[in-house]
Amino acid sequence: MSLAEYYLPSYIEKYEKEKPECECHFCQTPEKNLPLVTRYWRDEVRRSANIECSSICQRVLFDPEAFVLQVSTVPSDTPDLLSKQDKLLNQLAINIAIHPAMNMELRLFGMGILVSKSLGFYDSDIDESDCNMAEIGDQIIDMAESGSLQEQFLALPFIELFQLEALRNLGHATLDLDVDPLSGMAMALKLNELATMSEARLSEMLVELNQFWLDGATPFFDANPQVLQNYLIHRLYHDVFPASAGKHRSEVLLQLISDYFNLRMLCSLWMACGETLEQESVVAIVSGYSRWKIASNTENREDDGDRLLLQGLSLLVR
Ligand SMILES: [Zn+2]
Repeated sequence: MSLAEYYLPSYIEKYEKEKPECECHFCQTPEKNLPLVTRYWRDEVRRSANIECSSICQRVLFDPEAFVLQVSTVPSDTPDLLSKQDKLLNQLAINIAIHPAMNMELRLFGMGILVSKSLGFYDSDIDESDCNMAEIGDQIIDMAESGSLQEQFLALPFIELFQLEALRNLGHATLDLDVDPLSGMAMALKLNELATMSEARLSEMLVELNQFWLDGATPFFDANPQVLQNYLIHRLYHDVFPASAGKHRSEVLLQLISDYFNLRMLCSLWMACGETLEQESVVAIVSGYSRWKIASNTENREDDGDRLLLQGLSLLVR
């Protein structure tokens, strides 16, 4: 039996105290899913929860103190070990996610650089790569502070093909949003149109949706700055990003960025349906999209890491 550090985010502590009855589409299934999860390793235990549950999603996104962590020590008898390199990469990604000098796009771009550099170290000498990776993490933060990360980000090419492909794929999603049935129906129809509209119309639609994002969503997310940041922190913490992926790190990066792109498009579509973005609708979109994603399991194991990186980063450009 060894000792492990036990991490408890504040939102889970509050959730456990309140034990709310949840009526969401995740909890109210015949299997009666429970949203709380615990991840065990020999020297670390993480309490976490599935954002597919609406009441968890609400707490993760809208509690500014959701990720204040309580750390204690517990006995652990699991043999599984989170490798030093995986732990370090996860910590470096979290450092980027919480740094105030970056917006969401820059954070994801910074993570792209981190993942890209880490591929060179995969399977290499662990001690040396630890040191190098930590330096690279510091460099990314320095670049953000000096403005050069922003400059590099602005030089990324806009590749419409990848964005149209992503938008078209999103059109095939069937979402069970926790919203009133009429709004849910309008949203489903709008989504469906994406799957069938002509290439030229889809291209116009992309421009329109970006405009909705700029006019309607940006003021909402600027007024609630913790929402996107907490979504990102939850992903990194819950999935131990990009650790579990091993040499497929480019793929999990693409998945993370695709999810952000899709959530942006869904918020914009919501507004294109004549609705306004507010707490309840954002929670319904994020939790409903996350449920769909798990159910559809859209992983594709492709080996061309560079292409995946390019595809991912190009989804950040507007
Ligand atoms: Zn629930």
